[in-house]
Amino acid sequence: MAEQPQAETAAEEAPKPRAERKPRKKRVSPKVYKFYNISGDKAERLRRECPRCGRGVFMALHKDRLHCGKCGYTEWLGKKKGR
Ligand SMILES: [Zn+2]
Repeated sequence: MAEQPQAETAAEEAPKPRAERKPRKKRVSPKVYKFYNISGDKAERLRRECPRCGRGVFMALHKDRLHCGKCGYTEWLGKKKGR
């Protein structure tokens, strides 16, 4: 009896079981404190707020643009490049 060659081990790796999903809480990013400059009893906003999302949602400052991670709004800084 000819032995059958062993089937090549499939390169598939069993997907790792995901950690249990925690219920999501509506929470402001803990990083927003960076976007305020507290002086005395006043808070000064250091970042532009997203015009779409409104108050409390700050735009990420990139090299050449501001970007809202929440809604995807992007505002280009300086002159617009038309390619
Ligand atoms: Zn937004």
